[in-house]
Amino acid sequence: MKRSGEHAIVIGASMGGLLAARAVSEFYDNVTVLERDAFPASDVPRKGVPQGRHAHGLLARGRDVIEAFFPGWTDEVVASGGRRGDIAGDVGWIGHGVTLKSAPSDMVGVLASRPALEGHVRRRLLALSNVRAIENCTVQGLVATNDNGAIQGVRVRINGGAEQELLADLVIDAAGRGSSSPAWLEGLGYAPPEEERIEIGIGYTTRLYRRHPTDLRGKVALVVAGSGPNWRNGAVLYQTEDCWIVSIGGYLGDHAPDDEQMFAAYARSLPTSDIYDIVSHAEPVSDFVSYRFSANLRRRYERLPRFPKSYLVFGDALCSFNPVLGQGMTVAAQEASLLRECLAEAGDTDLARRFFNAVQGAIDIPWDIAVGNDLRHPQVAGPRSAKVKFINWYIGKLHRAAQYDGKLATAFLQVANLKAPPERLLHPAIVLRVMLGNLARGRGDAATTKMSAQT
Ligand SMILES: Cc1cc2nc3c(=O)[nH]c(=O)nc-3n(C[C@H](O)[C@H](O)[C@H](O)COP(=O)(O)OP(=O)(O)OC[C@H]3O[C@@H](n4cnc5c(N)ncnc54)[C@H](O)[C@@H]3O)c2cc1C
Repeated sequence: MKRSGEHAIVIGASMGGLLAARAVSEFYDNVTVLERDAFPASDVPRKGVPQGRHAHGLLARGRDVIEAFFPGWTDEVVASGGRRGDIAGDVGWIGHGVTLKSAPSDMVGVLASRPALEGHVRRRLLALSNVRAIENCTVQGLVATNDNGAIQGVRVRINGGAEQELLADLVIDAAGRGSSSPAWLEGLGYAPPEEERIEIGIGYTTRLYRRHPTDLRGKVALVVAGSGPNWRNGAVLYQTEDCWIVSIGGYLGDHAPDDEQMFAAYARSLPTSDIYDIVSHAEPVSDFVSYRFSANLRRRYERLPRFPKSYLVFGDALCSFNPVLGQGMTVAAQEASLLRECLAEAGDTDLARRFFNAVQGAIDIPWDIAVGNDLRHPQVAGPRSAKVKFINWYIGKLHRAAQYDGKLATAFLQVANLKAPPERLLHPAIVLRVMLGNLARGRGDAATTKMSAQT
């Protein structure tokens, strides 16, 4: 690999920062990851990643990238209590008001708690001889050249001590949605990035329950993506052999209460009884925790006419969207993969422009899927272009047919798992299956049953 520099700094040691650090570790002599929190002694949630208390599944494309960066990682997660799952065969998916037909596929996801997924990545990363982390280290600002044309490092406080400077040839901000990059860059005379915000006011309420292998009829997860007229969401995911995590909630203040009876009543209102069955019968093994997610947020750094050299923004700091389809960690993994490609192609020459342009495609797809679905909600404000309307109409039709057609269900999940481009769903063979499936629905069940028997 071509060497790009002596020292790279990554701000934030959550999934985004850890994967960014892994990507640059092949091109810089030393990599330092700076994290405001102390790392927990065991894989439990921590303050800087509050969403870590809520349901997190790793999609197939994200697992593929992490496995390529850290061979054997999936086995390690499984050996410590996690579980592999066939995304189309072992997981139930409800969207557009219908249950997708289950079918075996080659898409492998991983189920374990969010802290366990992160902990396994962190341990593998820190086992690399040129990577270290500084815990209890809060980044306060950037160090720039005299003309502010390039970033040379960061100003930090370690263990609450005096402010000091750490210098580097590349600084990557992976500090999450609350990233200070817009303000830091403005302070150096740069325009802040345009922000796209789609307010959804989602709230999740979460609790852990004792798991019995026969729950969910043997499936290891169930995801309900809200869809009119019932916009409530839910997820039940395998955490360990004897533990489920259940997260449920809805849009624009329609949040699940953190009270046993009312939580169960809310679960009962979902378009499946499976979540209610667990909530009402299984033994709870934690208290309730809540999380509020105000808006889909995308910062368009690629549109800025000027941007300092030797600086990148990464992961949720670039873009974060409705987590119902569980795409955030996978997008961060794809960004890491693209960063590695950018460095391999042309080192740090014009790196920010090349990186921001490269990741737009990786962000556009999950953004269109998640935000497009949000824009079907009549009270969610935002531009509904002809493209968004067409995609939503077509995906609705696809779901209608895919409840009986495993091939269509798998084709949709390949796109949602970022394993296949969305154009795949417009392939003539798929369009034909969608049309025939809908015609058969219109005529009654006989024809569809015949078609689904052929899949
Ligand atoms: C409720 C919910 C459920 C989700 N479910 C899924 C799911 O099922 N699947 C999935 O793939 N994704 C899911 N996501 C998204 C996923 O959590 C994120 O995309 C993922 O964590 C990557 O984020 P990140 O590392 O960029 O930022 P974050 O996870 O926000 O981490 C930022 C890190 O930076 C540190 N930091 C912040 N400021 C500083 C500073 N100044 N100095 C030093 N350190 C700092 C923080 O302590 C933290 O460690 C979900 C999100 C939410 C909100």
